[in-house]
Amino acid sequence: MTPPRVVVVGAGLSGLMAARTLASRGWSVVVLDKGRGVGGRMATRRITTPDGRTAILDHGAQFFTVRDERFAALVDEWVTAGVVREWCRGFTADDGHPRYVANGGMTALTKHLANGLDVRTSTLVFAVKPGETSRWTVVVDDGSELDTDAVVMTCPLPQSYSLTVTTGVELPSELLLTDYDRTIGLLAVIDGPSNIAAPGGLQNPDEVFSWIGDNAAKGISTVPAITFHANPEWSAAHWDDDADTGLALLTAAASPYLGNATIVTREYKKWRFATPKKLWPEPFHATAEGTLVFAGDAFAGPKVEGAVLSGLAAGAVVTGA
Ligand SMILES: Cc1cc2nc3c(=O)[nH]c(=O)nc-3n(C[C@H](O)[C@H](O)[C@H](O)COP(=O)(O)OP(=O)(O)OC[C@H]3O[C@@H](n4cnc5c(N)ncnc54)[C@H](O)[C@@H]3O)c2cc1C
Repeated sequence: MTPPRVVVVGAGLSGLMAARTLASRGWSVVVLDKGRGVGGRMATRRITTPDGRTAILDHGAQFFTVRDERFAALVDEWVTAGVVREWCRGFTADDGHPRYVANGGMTALTKHLANGLDVRTSTLVFAVKPGETSRWTVVVDDGSELDTDAVVMTCPLPQSYSLTVTTGVELPSELLLTDYDRTIGLLAVIDGPSNIAAPGGLQNPDEVFSWIGDNAAKGISTVPAITFHANPEWSAAHWDDDADTGLALLTAAASPYLGNATIVTREYKKWRFATPKKLWPEPFHATAEGTLVFAGDAFAGPKVEGAVLSGLAAGAVVTGA
């Protein structure tokens, strides 16, 4: 018997968890992502210094926490597989709650989850429309089309919405209006140790930054390198700054955290859809008899855990479980 087909749009955590769930239940799964690699907001960047050393910096999610039992069981598996490890139990004091990171950078977890799946990167989805010989047709940027029985959309909601207008399926207006906080980041490779105390993370340390992370202290980079995330207010206020101005402002704000080190290489990064401002009360939104399902961190929580749980739930609903 031919297995039912599903296309998952997005190879972030949510899409990969949905895809794994569907594949494990016998579905024929294709995952499409516009990025060069998998991961979405689980993003790790390699930056080479002028003298040829390569620093590794997480520039999306920095670490994750665990609350839900199902997620805890998965994290245990990932720890056993050597993909994930505990970083610390708090940044200024031990609060007893483990903070986990992926070995080698957060993208490593999504690479692990993509193993064995048919994931097609550098593949921009243009639209999802009713199919002529199938329930749905997914139109890709090279003009090709994939016929499928179901689609799971896991992009940030405004992007998922724009791709599915062509389905004719109506979505609740509150879902359509979901807005996202922005994050502007500075990735800085430095020439010596920072003065950020162990274990190497600072949350909301001042008026500009929501996060400062020392990637060497975290254990993913042998070259000293710091990730700075500006908070949502600063990021919104400076979103339209040109890159030179933004970079100069963030570099000045970063200087108290560098100790005696200086920046040797830096990059300016912008996340338009960093964090959903409002959460949908269900872990997914299923339409068209469960053949067009919306998932992602706007559903089950604006973090790694929420994205994973949303993907699991979305995969299950497509199979009718
Ligand atoms: C700066 C920043 C810091 C964060 N820090 C933390 C943290 O410390 N701890 C924590 O738990 N969480 C953190 N998060 C949140 C966490 O990263 C997200 O909740 C989670 O990764 C979201 O996963 P997702 O699968 O829902 O979405 P995404 O990872 O955004 O995946 C969506 C995918 O859809 C793809 N896509 C979009 N449009 C198209 C298209 N047209 N065609 C094909 N593909 C498309 C994208 O390329 C992307 O890969 C952070 C996020 C950001 C941005």
